[in-house]
Amino acid sequence: MLIVMEQKATPEDIEGVVTAIESRGYKARPIPGGERIAIGVLNNEGPVDASFFSGLSGVKEVIPVTRPYKQVSREFQPENTVVRIDNVTVGQGNLTMIAGPCAIESEDQAMTIARHVQRAGAHIFRGGAYKPRTSPYSFQGLGEEGLKILSRVRESTEMPVVTEAMDDDTFELVEEYADLIQIGARNMQNFSLLRRAGRSRKPILLKRGIAATIDEWLMAAEYILEGGNSQIILCERGVRTFVHHSRNTLDLSAVPYVQNESHLPIIVDPSHAAGRRDQVMPLSRAAVAVGAHGLMIEVHHNPDTALSDGAQSLYPEQYEALYLQVQSILDTFQI
Ligand code: PEP
Ligand code: MN
Repeated sequence: MLIVMEQKATPEDIEGVVTAIESRGYKARPIPGGERIAIGVLNNEGPVDASFFSGLSGVKEVIPVTRPYKQVSREFQPENTVVRIDNVTVGQGNLTMIAGPCAIESEDQAMTIARHVQRAGAHIFRGGAYKPRTSPYSFQGLGEEGLKILSRVRESTEMPVVTEAMDDDTFELVEEYADLIQIGARNMQNFSLLRRAGRSRKPILLKRGIAATIDEWLMAAEYILEGGNSQIILCERGVRTFVHHSRNTLDLSAVPYVQNESHLPIIVDPSHAAGRRDQVMPLSRAAVAVGAHGLMIEVHHNPDTALSDGAQSLYPEQYEALYLQVQSILDTFQI
């Protein structure tokens, strides 16, 4: 339930409503808005009786929140959330480009790719230092050394960096180095990691689970918001289906659906959805046309020798062409 206050409501009125909510055993979450404040009622198991609050001083209206992912829902917050990563914004009517290799392999590799993608319009550099791999024998990432390389890339290019936090043990270390912290598809329902992300002051990039419904995905985001961190970007990266022509199936209908259901920004990762280079450009065009707030693309200057996901990594020239194509779609359709 959401209690919307009158514009002229006083701090005492707000305090009175908070006390009334808490005295019934619920949690009050004030949400400052542009014009007036609203107060969310949380922790209720069943429906809350609106008449408890509708007569209180300064209350304009009481709106029931019907979605299970309360704080993530548009009912709770009608205005779009804009996520800020240093001087880069996501969800403010712009298209945010994130690009870089799957994994940080060396300083030379990371710097070379960062320079290429920056020249071709990237706003944020990506690269895994801790890699969730299907096989324990595959390259697992450089760990802290990878994080250090990422911070040198940031220093040298002034691009913010995103990298994955795979578990509670290394979250703090990742938090120290990253500007945006990724929670990967395999960890979308790692609830202790989600709670840890909720306590973080850094923005979170939450990827959709490999077999997650949109409800499950939005509930995962709810854990982070519930923990106190509202800076969340959702990332559609394809789900597992029966097909063999791509690694996963990119669910582009998730974009308008999520934008209707939630105020959180949503970007698309066509690289992990496709698993193969030739599909990345067409899927990127489609993602932009469908209204995604950004793209995350894997790029490698020498994909044949990449230690992970080489087959889906674009050559720098391909990334540059992709950037130009999506810009022309934005201009043509005024998206
Ligand atoms: C990645 O971004 O490198 C990654 C492992 O993605 P996902 O969690 O979507 O598989
Ligand atoms: Mn990858």
